[in-house]
Amino acid sequence: MDLIFYNTLTRTKEEFSPVAGEGKEVNLYTCGPTVYNYAHIGNLRSYVFADIVYRLLKFAGYKVNWVMNITNVDDKTIRGTIGKYGETAGVEELKKYTEEYYQAFLADLDELNVQRKEAKFIKVTEVIPQIQNFILELIKKGYAYKADDGSTYFSINKYQEVFEDYGELVGEKFLEGKKIGARVKVDEYEKDNLSDFALWKARSSEDASIYWEQPELGAGRPGWHIECSVINNVAFGNKTIDIHTGGVDLIFPHHTNEIAQSEAFNDKTFVKYWLHPEHLFVDGKKMAKSLNNFYTLTNIEEKKFDLIVYRYILLQSSYKQTMNFTWESLEAGARGYQNIKNKISQLKKSAGFFGTMFAKLDETYLKDFAVKVGALNTAAALASLQGVLSTKDLAPAEKLKLIKKFDEVLGLKLV
Ligand code: AMP
Ligand code: ZN
Repeated sequence: MDLIFYNTLTRTKEEFSPVAGEGKEVNLYTCGPTVYNYAHIGNLRSYVFADIVYRLLKFAGYKVNWVMNITNVDDKTIRGTIGKYGETAGVEELKKYTEEYYQAFLADLDELNVQRKEAKFIKVTEVIPQIQNFILELIKKGYAYKADDGSTYFSINKYQEVFEDYGELVGEKFLEGKKIGARVKVDEYEKDNLSDFALWKARSSEDASIYWEQPELGAGRPGWHIECSVINNVAFGNKTIDIHTGGVDLIFPHHTNEIAQSEAFNDKTFVKYWLHPEHLFVDGKKMAKSLNNFYTLTNIEEKKFDLIVYRYILLQSSYKQTMNFTWESLEAGARGYQNIKNKISQLKKSAGFFGTMFAKLDETYLKDFAVKVGALNTAAALASLQGVLSTKDLAPAEKLKLIKKFDEVLGLKLV
């Protein structure tokens, strides 16, 4: 089965072939959530997309190692911890504070039928010594330096001297006309302020007692970008990994900096295929906590929707396009989903007691579905499903057999 992915790195559609060779295992990495609050349904669009990629790879016969980081140390988680536990809060309080949101995140994934039990989640607090060692190695290799403010930064100039490709994920002309500027300690910054970014942030008065000691680095905590480079190495070793996913907002600076850190450390290509789902919008704007225009799954549940309907409407749209969330679209989705379920109930009645047991899997319809879903075109794959439901060429048991197979990727709890 052919898988065709749009690779952000090459800006083209490419046929997937695993780094380790045909028939070998595939390593898939997804940038996970910052667990300082409940995930909004925009965030969840990114994870449903990653789940489709995971399920598709399995459908195509690969054994997939799926890993996701959990960001449980950053400015927002620290602020939240201090808000709840006071000015003396330390690492234990941080862990307690973030655990609640981590568990809520897992519950959200379950509601959307994301196969998270097959994924491995690695929290930043579990890999602090590995992060420190990674940074020390970058210092040794000349890619990182400790500055006057006590923090340790990644040197983009040094990286450029050796690799000459900083920003390649954003575009070929990314560096044109840009000056590499001062240092930034914050994790999120604009493209115009191209700056050396913090790998290890020196402890400040805003951190309460949330810090780790390291003789050379000093008291502090990791920056955001370094965690994903390190977790990739912890999970997969120093190999080129197959696929990395995350929302489009992560292309710069997060993924750009992940590439720089990992390639400087491992001396090889970090990731073969970069896949970036587009954002969920509301009223024409990106759904974001900072804009206060977000909904959570709880809000959807309060309106008495079956949560799987949200997954269904996500699959109706192209992940390469922004999608505008409205309650009307959810209502239409609920009707469409119920319609499919009703037809499947009828098929079950007609197929009788032995159901799909002796039915054959129709190759033509299966192929049609595989071509569409193999290009991650879930909307077209849903159209294939409708085609199976409406055709007169298949017996009810044959239809059910196909739908069950399709649902291995769609994950819509159809049969
Ligand atoms: P965060 O918890 O902020 O680190 O984000 C977790 C994931 O959600 C990342 O992959 C983001 O790119 C993604 N994300 C954030 N906002 C949206 C949105 N409105 N639509 C889709 N994905 C989003
Ligand atoms: Zn990441």
